[in-house]
Amino acid sequence: MVIPRLQFDHVLFKRATELVRENGGAVIQDFPVSDVHLVGKGDEQRIIGVSGIVGGRRSGNEVMTFTAPLTIGAGGYNCPVSRKITETHGEPMRDDDHYIPAYREYWEMECGKTGPIALQFIGGELGGGYFWICPVREGLCNVGIGMVQRELKQHKTKLRALQAQIIAEHPKFKVRFESAKMVEGSGIGHMIPCGSPRKHPPSYQPRRIAMAGAGCVGDSATLVNAFSGEGIDPAFVSAKTLIAHFDRDEHADGFPSEAAHDYQVELWKQLGPVMTNSYKMQKLVKKRRLMNWFMGKASKDDKRGRMIRDQLELAVSSKSAQEDVATPWQLIKLMLF
Ligand SMILES: Cc1cc2nc3c(=O)[nH]c(=O)nc-3n(C[C@H](O)[C@H](O)[C@H](O)COP(=O)(O)OP(=O)(O)OC[C@H]3O[C@@H](n4cnc5c(N)ncnc54)[C@H](O)[C@@H]3O)c2cc1C
Repeated sequence: MVIPRLQFDHVLFKRATELVRENGGAVIQDFPVSDVHLVGKGDEQRIIGVSGIVGGRRSGNEVMTFTAPLTIGAGGYNCPVSRKITETHGEPMRDDDHYIPAYREYWEMECGKTGPIALQFIGGELGGGYFWICPVREGLCNVGIGMVQRELKQHKTKLRALQAQIIAEHPKFKVRFESAKMVEGSGIGHMIPCGSPRKHPPSYQPRRIAMAGAGCVGDSATLVNAFSGEGIDPAFVSAKTLIAHFDRDEHADGFPSEAAHDYQVELWKQLGPVMTNSYKMQKLVKKRRLMNWFMGKASKDDKRGRMIRDQLELAVSSKSAQEDVATPWQLIKLMLF
């Protein structure tokens, strides 16, 4: 199922607002957090709250400061809470091997109401990455592209230009776009912070995301699935896990570093296997000859072809299958036996 973010975010925000208000809280919009406050020294350091200005610096409004036993960083890939946590521990926040810049546009084109999602792994001269066409509703598609930051830098390419090139020149896609029209102003770029395991993490996997007084969730905790690009499900899992480690009474004087440690260990225990295998799959699909051979087998209309297709579909959509399919040996077994 595909739903535009405008609608999804509205439903989510509306429900979250209701829950917060029902529990005696308040919701403030248009409040960019500019400072995250830290107290203490050395191992005793802890985050105690945030400051910002409603409407931003140029609004002329006054600075507002909020303190809490637990500050939750949910500000996406560039979250100031996440930055403060990593800076405080002298650890890197961003990793070019695990961050994927993405760009999308909406196109008026033939795609059917519930037509199939087209996902193309691009390689060769175009660099390497994904190009997708997702039908949103009859006659409207979400068309986008994403590539690992390090590869993008190596190829000195801009995603927007790369997408235009694929649409105009790629033998498989240019025909589909012949009578298509881009929705003016719909182009938008974003960063996808993946939850794939880091090679030599200084502390936690995929990265440090919590400390005394604070914990991060969702993109702020770099949790997007590196193969499917899904970040909403792990965002909810992280939020549930973090809050399960917070005790309103016991931690009234501040979320302790032990609870922050437990949150990080527990979250990786839950998400680590899927994140690790999704990363392996992301790497596997870049092996062009292997993939072409594999897809050749998958496209055959025999028992094995159907089995591989079923497994592939599951690998993209099902979490438990992502834990199963991902090693080269398992893929080879699937193809040969
Ligand atoms: C092109 C694209 C397609 C995607 N498709 C899918 C998909 O199909 N399925 C899926 O599951 N995931 C998808 N994802 C990933 C998904 O969008 C994210 O993982 C998800 O939105 C993460 O939610 P979040 O709330 O953690 O972060 P975000 O959605 O980024 O929200 C962060 C919020 O924090 C706010 N903010 C930032 N800085 C500050 C600040 N200083 N002060 C106050 N507020 C701040 C931002 O304005 C924003 O509202 C896609 C991502 C991209 C880029």
